[in-house]
Amino acid sequence: MGFIEDSFVKAKEVIDIAGKKTGEMISLQKLKVNASSLQYQISHDYEALGRLCYEAKKNGEKNEDAIAELIEEMDERKAELAELERQIALAKGVVICPVCSTRNVITAAYCNKCGSKLSQDDAEGSAGEENETPKEEPEKSEAEE
Ligand SMILES: [Zn+2]
Repeated sequence: MGFIEDSFVKAKEVIDIAGKKTGEMISLQKLKVNASSLQYQISHDYEALGRLCYEAKKNGEKNEDAIAELIEEMDERKAELAELERQIALAKGVVICPVCSTRNVITAAYCNKCGSKLSQDDAEGSAGEENETPKEEPEKSEAEE
């Protein structure tokens, strides 16, 4: 199974590059290179997956574990690719609707096709202090009788 490990290592490198550069200015070009590299890995994975299934059927090899493992890796890569595509869209000044995948201008608050709210996640979305309890509760049963 050397080819699977090999492709996994390559994809990890790609992910590391993408991870390290976030926070800095990432050039659109670099994002595209990373995305197409991941895409290449994923199509390579499909080929490997096909081979595993072929062997399983043809020779009765029990490589279900290998198949499951490969599928897991593929899902990680796909998630990474989706994130890269989102970043590419952002770099291009568009935001992709999470519901219908329509491209909207980055200033849009709602999808112009389906009307879903478009979250701009680098806006201050997660100011997580909403515990504004009133400081003093008036009248705590001051019975004066
Ligand atoms: Zn939409």
